[in-house]
Amino acid sequence: MQKIMTEIERCKGCYLCMANCPKEAIHLSGKVNHKGYEYIEVDQEKCIACGSCYQMCPDFVFSILV
Ligand code: SF4
Ligand code: SF4
Repeated sequence: MQKIMTEIERCKGCYLCMANCPKEAIHLSGKVNHKGYEYIEVDQEKCIACGSCYQMCPDFVFSILV
């Protein structure tokens, strides 16, 4: 089940979300957005929808679906 939606074009590669995810559910995607930043991906299986990434991200990349 998808718990988190990401607007990856907004990502600026600061990785605050990765550093603050308690489940290590956020990782580098290996892909670059139109701004030239390597953006993140969420492992929906590991994610517990705690909202930390939503709170930490300065660029409003995350939406919580559950
Ligand atoms: S905190 Fe937001 S802008 Fe920074 S890497 Fe994560 S998704 Fe991208
Ligand atoms: S909601 Fe919590 S567990 Fe899920 S990706 Fe964000 S910080 Fe990690």
